[in-house]
Amino acid sequence: SAIIQMYRVTKRYGAKSALVDISLDIADNEFLFLSGPSGAGKTTLLKLLYLGETASEGQIIVDGLNLSRISRRRVPFLRRKFGIIFQDYKLIPTKNVYDNVALVVEAVGVERRSIKKMVNSLLRTVKMADRSRAFPPSLSGGEQQRVAVARAIAGNPKIIVADEPTGSLDADSARVILNLLKLYHRRGGTVIIATHDTELIRNTGGRVILLNDGYLEVSTVIPKQQL
Ligand code: ADP
Ligand code: ADP
Repeated sequence: SAIIQMYRVTKRYGAKSALVDISLDIADNEFLFLSGPSGAGKTTLLKLLYLGETASEGQIIVDGLNLSRISRRRVPFLRRKFGIIFQDYKLIPTKNVYDNVALVVEAVGVERRSIKKMVNSLLRTVKMADRSRAFPPSLSGGEQQRVAVARAIAGNPKIIVADEPTGSLDADSARVILNLLKLYHRRGGTVIIATHDTELIRNTGGRVILLNDGYLEVSTVIPKQQL
């Protein structure tokens, strides 16, 4: 069944149409790539899902919530369904690795005495437990993105959206990030990755939605290459 349904969605920024008449269903527990060149509308599509932007036309339903009817006070309820990963990580530079993740665990109301255990377990999963006292600016890009993945998973979201999550990383770090997202997917999560990196898509496999200048061009399934 679909966890996300978009029906005839258009998004305009002033006179500029960033997305035009997009209809798309995303199944629960899907692993999906949004592909296409810079400016195609990938970021905009992701933002529409968590109400980072509002659609100009059309309907979007996320896990039963109709985004055009949702009240302002329910927006946080929608946002908690998402873990969001950005190309530039967006970690809090003045808080250490542990606290960057703990903030999210606290925000979702985990019991005080369980927080520490949960944060440390997440940091072990992304292999950053030994850097828990480090501050983000002292970490490499790959390390920062691993913390960002831990933070995205920390709120136990149904959906992870990642905008060029490997864009500024070397191949090894990119593979680690992809493997973490696949692990989250195997545990039942839905993953949507915006990227123009076709190599990354070929090496991973999954459904690919191709956007071009705001239009949904094709939707194909790429089998995972034998490596
Ligand atoms: P992509 O993520 O594929 O690079 P974007 O969704 O960022 O594409 O952008 C799609 C189009 O919308 C681009 O032409 C971009 O310049 C434009 N755009 C994106 N955000 C804004 C904004 N806040 N205001 C005006 N135009 C925007
Ligand atoms: P990306 O390439 O990852 O989509 P950009 O660097 O193009 O991101 O955009 C950074 C920010 O600027 C985004 O929040 C986007 O919405 C906004 N933006 C992008 N294009 C424009 C534009 N033409 N006018 C105003 N804001 C824009």
